Amino acid sequence: MGLGRRRACARTICGVPVLTPTSLDDALAALVETPGALVLAGGTDVMVEVNEARRLMVDDETVVAVGQLAELHGWVHDPVAGTLRLGAATTYAELEQEPLASLVPALAQAARTVGSPQIRNVATIGGNLATCSPAGDGLPVLAALGATVELRGTGGTRHLPVAAFMTGVKQTARQPGELITAVTVPVLDGWQGYAKVGVRNAMVIAIAGACLAVDVPSRSVRLALGSVAPTVVRATSAEAFAEGAVEWSTNAVSDADATTFGELAAEAAKPIDDHRASAAYRRHAVAVLSRRLLRRAFPHRLA
Ligand SMILES: Cc1cc2nc3c(=O)[nH]c(=O)nc-3n(C[C@H](O)[C@H](O)[C@H](O)COP(=O)(O)OP(=O)(O)OC[C@H]3O[C@@H](n4cnc5c(N)ncnc54)[C@H](O)[C@@H]3O)c2cc1C
Repeated sequence: MGLGRRRACARTICGVPVLTPTSLDDALAALVETPGALVLAGGTDVMVEVNEARRLMVDDETVVAVGQLAELHGWVHDPVAGTLRLGAATTYAELEQEPLASLVPALAQAARTVGSPQIRNVATIGGNLATCSPAGDGLPVLAALGATVELRGTGGTRHLPVAAFMTGVKQTARQPGELITAVTVPVLDGWQGYAKVGVRNAMVIAIAGACLAVDVPSRSVRLALGSVAPTVVRATSAEAFAEGAVEWSTNAVSDADATTFGELAAEAAKPIDDHRASAAYRRHAVAVLSRRLLRRAFPHRLA
């Protein structure tokens, strides 16, 4: 056993070597020593894969559990920079609560839609990013806000815009040996919200999801869509349309323009037919969700 693995507390669970490093340096050393090791945070995606026997079937596959890394826990609000840095181990339960819920309300709303309280108590934002499911509820919010993903390897730290981090269905720009250490989101001045359609109201994977975030000082409207393309997409035509259509001084938009906004959002979607919904239904859902979100952001009606 090498230096990194000796430092990282090792034990065997059901024949699988499990390392529980207590410092980020030890965790990164363990990842170098055991290339292809399975990183474990809250385990809510990993254990599904294990139960479906897609992981831990390879001889000598090692688990590196990151839950004890202090460097991945906690958050820092920098009011001067207007940013919030969330450690990768931040759970949905934490995101739901104050003060984070007031700093990034859309992320709190998305968090409240994830799984059950038991899931939200352990599932992390870093795990959601690393899994990079098109249906990951945190991801449209991070995309709409323009978040930056922080990755750390033994060679140093990289920062990637979340749009560059997400490269495909369950594919990311994370390199072997790297850990997601944090995600930094701008704290915007304006209304923001997340909405999702599923086959029922709780414990449901999104058929379509949308996050709308307004930044009043820059007069910008951001709209990101989930579950309707290989990765989360920004609906840039809809965003540009909204910025011209809304009356910023009175927080108003006309019903006709809100409808057009929804239609433009639907055009940005590249959905597929699958067992959850047809592509046509997903496009319709995007139009409805986006229109409603814009209406909530700009509640006064222009004639
Ligand atoms: C019953 C149930 C309901 C669910 N409902 C929802 C839902 O409504 N919405 C939703 O979005 N998701 C849902 N999920 C999926 C899951 O809860 C989320 O994706 C969650 O954010 C994963 O976080 P985790 O900490 O559990 O990750 P883990 O399962 O521990 O890890 C997930 C992936 O990320 C990697 N990883 C974890 N942390 C890091 C890190 N710091 N650096 C690098 N790689 C890392 C792991 O190797 C693994 O590949 C559900 C899961 C279950 C079991």
